[in-house]
Amino acid sequence: MDSLTQLTELLKKLPGIGPRQSRRLAFWFVRQDVAFIQSFSKTLLEARSTITVCPKCKRLHPKNSAREQCAICSSEARDATTVMLVEKDVDLENIERTGTYTGRYFVLGGTTSPLDAHPEKKVRIESFLALLANTNEPIREIIIALSATTEGEDTYTYIEEKIKPFIESRGIVITKLGRGLSTGTELEYVDKDTMVHALKRRS
Ligand SMILES: [Zn+2]
Repeated sequence: MDSLTQLTELLKKLPGIGPRQSRRLAFWFVRQDVAFIQSFSKTLLEARSTITVCPKCKRLHPKNSAREQCAICSSEARDATTVMLVEKDVDLENIERTGTYTGRYFVLGGTTSPLDAHPEKKVRIESFLALLANTNEPIREIIIALSATTEGEDTYTYIEEKIKPFIESRGIVITKLGRGLSTGTELEYVDKDTMVHALKRRS
């Protein structure tokens, strides 16, 4: 296999990249300056070795020798009574950008549908349930903040069913982002005002 084909095969592994796009990207890469390629590879390696997964909320965060948990999980200023479940890191960033949410998070890592034989492999529900079972934090509310898409709805139903037995005796409520989000909206692309509104109108 020549190196251009090898590069194509590698790029095909990127999320959302098909065979045709990966070939186009491979051609693009080999036409760039060597300096750019060097800086690109260096940055990629650096990001991989300095970013780590928070053991508590599962979000990606810069490694810190002083603490294992991310800045949000270890901050005393964050409201420990509220946990928001999001699909992915970019959704969390989008909500942080509103500056109005002060609770904690948990990153589920994906969505599921009723057709999945092993939904627990797509959504980190087991880790979240373990967290719920072992925490001594005074959690009062779990906000499920997912996209207003079919996948989001299916995942909401799945998570709600899984969580219910754990919270009934503890007085924890499950809420959902308000219907300010129109159908088909992905959380990642929701603008600040709409998000603030959806947060306020959660029920
Ligand atoms: Zn964390």
